[in-house]
Amino acid sequence: MVEAEVAAAGGGRVEAVQLRIGQLAGVHEAALRFAFEQAREGSVAEQATLCITDLPVAVFCPRCDRIVELPQITPLACPACRQPTGDIRQGQELELESIELSEVGT
Ligand SMILES: [Zn+2]
Repeated sequence: MVEAEVAAAGGGRVEAVQLRIGQLAGVHEAALRFAFEQAREGSVAEQATLCITDLPVAVFCPRCDRIVELPQITPLACPACRQPTGDIRQGQELELESIELSEVGT
């Protein structure tokens, strides 16, 4: 994924990789960092640092008629009115947010 982005940008070395990960994505940050370090060896991202943004879980509450962030993953219920809801609007992301590139030759 990162190498495709670098190629699209015309090359260069990757300085930093930023990911957005929801709390429900099922990703363990430590495991992900370990995998990243294995994967970057010999690649354009060999010197890159990994930045992870944690996204809290947000659900739509039909009773309050709005999207609310949950202070914890479970229960999946509105923190304001306690209405249970499975309508998850945020928290399952595993996205590449941005890549910082350095110019070739610098
Ligand atoms: Zn509610």
